[in-house]
Amino acid sequence: MRILVTNDDGIYSPGIAALAKVAKNFGEVRVVAPDVEQSSMGHAVTHSRPLSYKRSPIEFPDIQAHRVNGTPADCVAMGMHLWKNVDVVLSGINMGPNLGNSMWHSGTLAAAKQAVLFGVKGIALSTPVGKEEPDFDHLEGYVSRTLEGLLENDELALYNVNLPPGPTDIVWTRQSVRLYDGTIVPGTDPLGRKHYWFTVSPLEPAEEGTDRWAVENNMVSVTPLRLDLTDEAMLREKLPF
Ligand code: MN
Repeated sequence: MRILVTNDDGIYSPGIAALAKVAKNFGEVRVVAPDVEQSSMGHAVTHSRPLSYKRSPIEFPDIQAHRVNGTPADCVAMGMHLWKNVDVVLSGINMGPNLGNSMWHSGTLAAAKQAVLFGVKGIALSTPVGKEEPDFDHLEGYVSRTLEGLLENDELALYNVNLPPGPTDIVWTRQSVRLYDGTIVPGTDPLGRKHYWFTVSPLEPAEEGTDRWAVENNMVSVTPLRLDLTDEAMLREKLPF
């Protein structure tokens, strides 16, 4: 199996090293990742300047690794250009969860989504970060078990996986769609100039059976996603214009 590994935190992130390490147990692995952090870039692609790639400045044991001056979606395109017949794209492990409404902003998920647009299975993996870096060695067993399940068949599919710091189980979930604040928090820089932070945090508690609920309850959340965003119920009403 040919496994392309990417992320949105950039090639230096310990999360991508952890994911590449586990991925090696499932097949041949190559890493193509952004040269700088591209978190919250969503599904942006670079269209107004050329892309280039260089060998990774850090070593991935026995894995070819390249960095790209582009977005996560660019990296998938570049990776699949450089390496033919990729079977699956793994994106992550993101330093920070990608749950509920934050899926819309996620570069991690967008990379997996880009794979599906190319007709290849895509799996995004994320984990929350506290004051300390995530313990990726501790997560390894659950990352492995989750991938084992998701790589079993070769159906074209898009999965969003979120791992709590201390997983006890793996569950299927739906996306939590609840209000979030999207607040702009003003501040002042050292020179006295105004600056602003865009914050995204949920306003309502998570519904049972959702991705947020699973991670809050120490379970690995696996959400199957689709690219069709059509509102079927509204479409059925077929109101006249
Ligand atoms: Mn990120």
